[in-house]
Amino acid sequence: MRNEELKEVNCELGIRNEELGITSHSSSRILNSSFLIPNSSLTVAVERKAIKHTHLSVFPPDARIHVSAPLDLPDADIRSYLISKLPWLRKQIAAVLSQSRQTRREYVSGEDIYLLGKRCRLTVRKSAAAPAVCIKGQDIVLSGRGLESRVARAAKIDGWYREELRCVLTRILDRYAVIVGETDAISFEIRRMRNLWGACTSRTRRIRFNLALARVPRRCIEYVVVHELVHLSVPNHSLLFERKMDKFMPRWREARKELIEFIALPLE
Ligand SMILES: [Zn+2]
Repeated sequence: MRNEELKEVNCELGIRNEELGITSHSSSRILNSSFLIPNSSLTVAVERKAIKHTHLSVFPPDARIHVSAPLDLPDADIRSYLISKLPWLRKQIAAVLSQSRQTRREYVSGEDIYLLGKRCRLTVRKSAAAPAVCIKGQDIVLSGRGLESRVARAAKIDGWYREELRCVLTRILDRYAVIVGETDAISFEIRRMRNLWGACTSRTRRIRFNLALARVPRRCIEYVVVHELVHLSVPNHSLLFERKMDKFMPRWREARKELIEFIALPLE
């Protein structure tokens, strides 16, 4: 792949990927299969892709196990890799399932609601005023008219999350763009994404962030921001990428671990 082409690649930061790697939209997808991990009752979907590293993921809500493997990696190697990861897989499955039980939210008073890593309590108050969300100590208060349906309450909370996250992301991006040396204009958008924390297109200098980041601690958001900023000049997760991460955010590995383990996901 020529350098020019490398720069065109969208780099995506996956949710619950045990190992993060480059994902190219142009990668060929062949030889998909599924198999049972020996000595367990776990079935894994295997996807072959033009990638360098193996990615193992457990997805909500049903703890579906997915592995993306390089095209030339023998099946036997994937099997032994999965066996070696059984303890990790069992832990992830338990976390995903318990999280799924918690996350069918009704957006009613007394429910837990996370903001920037802090667990708060939701209070809903009906009134004739326009709907609004405010923070009162440990409580997040959703008040106003037209909040009878779950959909209406969820939409209001999502909009509020979006604004909170936009403020935090703007400040973090401004600060780290200077540190990383990416001072040309960068734009970003916040989206609901099922499998990614962030993704960037270096050619257009546009970064996409997952709305769910509003729930996680600030240092985890910083990690995602710095990760994507470094991708503007380094399109993969090479040694150079890691060296830059070490330089700009020395404790990024801790933040990444915390992000992977954070329990307040997914949004639905
Ligand atoms: Zn990446």
